[in-house]
Amino acid sequence: MKKCPVCESNKINIADCGYITFNRGFVECKDCGFKINYKNLNSENDFKDSWNRDINYMEQLVDLNEKDKNSLLISLFLKDTIAVGSMIEKINKLNEGG
Ligand SMILES: [Zn+2]
Repeated sequence: MKKCPVCESNKINIADCGYITFNRGFVECKDCGFKINYKNLNSENDFKDSWNRDINYMEQLVDLNEKDKNSLLISLFLKDTIAVGSMIEKINKLNEGG
């Protein structure tokens, strides 16, 4: 499981959705509270994979220009998961192109 992208803690909590009707849940850093919401995932492993994938993209910030980097950091700071998601898509496209 990848570390928190904000504070680098490895205390990452998976809030599994297993006991409710709608498969929604989140993965959260226990130290700083950074959280990514997920839905339509079926197992703890799915949450883990999604978190690892998202953090992996975030770690590629070094390849972004300053404007994109700042947008993503602000989104992370505000815990705006929709904006983070769209940034992740953008990073993904950049990587596919490069
Ligand atoms: Zn953290």
